Amino acid sequence: MNIPIFKLNFSKKNVEFYQSRISKVFTSKSLSEGKFTNEFVNKFKKKNHSKYAIACSSGTAALQLAFEAINIKNCEVIVPTNTFFGTVNPIIKSGGKAVLCDNEFNSPEISFSEIKRKVTKKTKVICVVHVGGWIHKDILKIRSFCKKKKIYLVEDAAHAHFSNYKNTFSGNFGDIGCFSFFPTKVMTTGEGGMIVTNKLRLYKKMLSLKNFGRSSNDLILNDIGVNFKISEFNSCLGLVELKRVDSRIKKREEITKMYKKLLDQNKYDVLFRKKSKSSHYKCLVKTKIPYLKIKKYLKKRGINLTGKVWEIPLHKQNVFKKSKKIKIFKYPNADEFSKKHFCPPNYPELSLKQIQRICKVLNSIN
Ligand SMILES: *Cc1c(COP(=O)(O)O)cnc(C)c1O
Repeated sequence: MNIPIFKLNFSKKNVEFYQSRISKVFTSKSLSEGKFTNEFVNKFKKKNHSKYAIACSSGTAALQLAFEAINIKNCEVIVPTNTFFGTVNPIIKSGGKAVLCDNEFNSPEISFSEIKRKVTKKTKVICVVHVGGWIHKDILKIRSFCKKKKIYLVEDAAHAHFSNYKNTFSGNFGDIGCFSFFPTKVMTTGEGGMIVTNKLRLYKKMLSLKNFGRSSNDLILNDIGVNFKISEFNSCLGLVELKRVDSRIKKREEITKMYKKLLDQNKYDVLFRKKSKSSHYKCLVKTKIPYLKIKKYLKKRGINLTGKVWEIPLHKQNVFKKSKKIKIFKYPNADEFSKKHFCPPNYPELSLKQIQRICKVLNSIN
């Protein structure tokens, strides 16, 4: 039995739904943002209970628009070292300084006590990542802290589509939330991203920046912006994905629960929180068994692990070590966590038999 790192299937019905929309794009007036992009944005925003939403070309583009709208030039942004580089590059591209922050002990999440220690007079934004789809467990405390200190809160929700904690959907805790639609994510548009916000001023600014910096008069420029628009083709795929995202998240949840049930608890600790509803983008398993040993053992038996969250914390990237735009300290918890976890496959295309096989193999490691 071979179990690939990733698989993405579309049913005949999904493909037909897509094709029926696409055939209308070809005869419409717009191949770039038009009717279907509007529909996609409105449906996403409604489902996420957000006041405003903006579609854009990637999750990284979404973050860059967020930081540019807030205007972080010569300001500091506190961000986890345990994240994807797509969280940090936009900070530097927007003229800010990234202040890398350690994890909570034995956890993938940025530590709230460390955040408080890293705040300076220059701190303008705290950026939280909802790792694997779990909304940060201290998000409400971080939100109150930001309000008190007049610091912006940006959520990198690239993993956390429709994750929910205490009746709030991801992206709505802070000032701006950013989602990714890369193919491996919870839902995809091929490439794409979405920004949500409840603040009219930020919404208007990001909408303009995404479209060259245009004002409401198309001929007049307000800002020196970028072109991060998406095409109608991407949006049609987004509409397909919105129809099936709930059932796919449910499938991911079932898979995570299977791992929790079937994996030997003396060896493996599967992250699962009862009071929070995750998108289950990643299944996080903590273990003392060395990662390379697990990876090789599984590979030999045809099983491919998915990417960790994360294998290399950002403070270990040479390009960041050399940059004057990043403040780097010591990160014992992130270093430790990167070595003590792995992510078994948990995409919805997995069969029950495959999960049973993965668990059996994992349990047989000594
Ligand atoms: C995927 C991802 C991004 C970037 O999204 P893209 O759509 O690939 O640009 C940013 N942050 C995190 C945590 C991600 O996983």
